[in-house]
Amino acid sequence: EDVDEAGGASKSSSKAKEAKGNVTVSVRVRPDVNGADSSRNDSEWLADGRRSLIAYRGKEAGDYYYDNVFTAHDQNAKVYDSAAKRLVRRVMEGYHGTVFAYGMTGTGKTFSMQGTATSPGVIPLAITDIFSFIRETPHREFLLRVSYLEIYNEKIHDLLSASAPNGGGAVQQEEIKLREDSKRGVYATPLKEEIVQSPTQLLRVIARGDHARRTGSTQFNARSSRSHAVVQIVVESRERAASGTSSQDKRSGIIPGGVRVSTLSLIDLAGSERAADDKERRTEGAHINKSLLTLGNIISKLSDAKDKNGNAADREGKHLPYRDSKLTRLLQPALSGNSLVSILCTVHLGSSANSGENLNTLKFAARAKNSIVSHAKRAEEAFSGGSQDPGSRVLLERYRVEI
Ligand code: ADP
Ligand code: MG
Repeated sequence: EDVDEAGGASKSSSKAKEAKGNVTVSVRVRPDVNGADSSRNDSEWLADGRRSLIAYRGKEAGDYYYDNVFTAHDQNAKVYDSAAKRLVRRVMEGYHGTVFAYGMTGTGKTFSMQGTATSPGVIPLAITDIFSFIRETPHREFLLRVSYLEIYNEKIHDLLSASAPNGGGAVQQEEIKLREDSKRGVYATPLKEEIVQSPTQLLRVIARGDHARRTGSTQFNARSSRSHAVVQIVVESRERAASGTSSQDKRSGIIPGGVRVSTLSLIDLAGSERAADDKERRTEGAHINKSLLTLGNIISKLSDAKDKNGNAADREGKHLPYRDSKLTRLLQPALSGNSLVSILCTVHLGSSANSGENLNTLKFAARAKNSIVSHAKRAEEAFSGGSQDPGSRVLLERYRVEI
């Protein structure tokens, strides 16, 4: 195991990590109900944020090092800054990026991704950052589109579609399929994408999706813990025409550089716990486990590819079982190399009943750290040169974010 090497000495190696690391794996330990550090109540566990270490002294004892270990004292803002900010900014520069929250139900996935009014999570903080970046980059113009879907029992539901909140909610709508083409990669269709031009608008669209998710099920909590919630923000940008350029030139459409298209995916995964015993739960659980297991399988296979001969074909995903679940199929672009990935694993230590599940989460995180070899490259190449996507250009013309 080179676990220790991967995450050790967080301070001294942070520069090197930035240079080579397109995958960030973090573990967040949630506080106990009384606010206490949950790792302190249990002699089996020790969470050390400074050393990015979780030490386990139970049956399969081990020291687990990650890029970040967040303890009970760490706020959402710190989690965002250390585990997501860089990725979000890179998405604005044209790379694909995925943040996902992994862990058993009740460990803080939604708290970390959505946060609260006083302590906003990764999603609202990313939105703030996106618009800051746009303001700081006056020489480019940006177009933002957002979609919000849920994967439940291996079916995709559009949380922004008009039919979602009524007629029995998201359950009733037409089935959404995953397709693939050379230009867009893997995508869900028909899926509503909203064009947004301000942070308020973007937050409002996501709130609408959250609302649809709640009203679409009678038992929100049960369902939400068994479904994956996927927010995707597509960012298109291009150089603005130089200020000296005459309107004549603008009309002729001479714009330096291509249109960059990249996607930020923010994913609140289903609970990673094992299926309960009753029959319906078991079907749901089987689907959840299938997608999370496939995710784990892909990660470990990527690891094999890297360990043996760094086989590029495997890293590009040709032999990996992405198609085994909707989640991994949708995430294929994010995991097959052309993307930055940040995995936030949440655990609630201190309750020894959870030790097995927590250990599974920590192992998942450790495997991810050693395996995903991601060679991020800007999505611009595909769109540069003379053959820019005319659709993008028209949309950018009409809906670009004004600064
Ligand atoms: P999950 O989405 O993983 O099922 P939640 O995010 O809903 O878990 O968290 C479960 C409960 O614990 C919620 O009441 C949430 O507010 C609380 N919680 C989780 N993590 C933290 C944290 N780091 N600090 C304070 N409260 C937390
Ligand atoms: Mg949740």
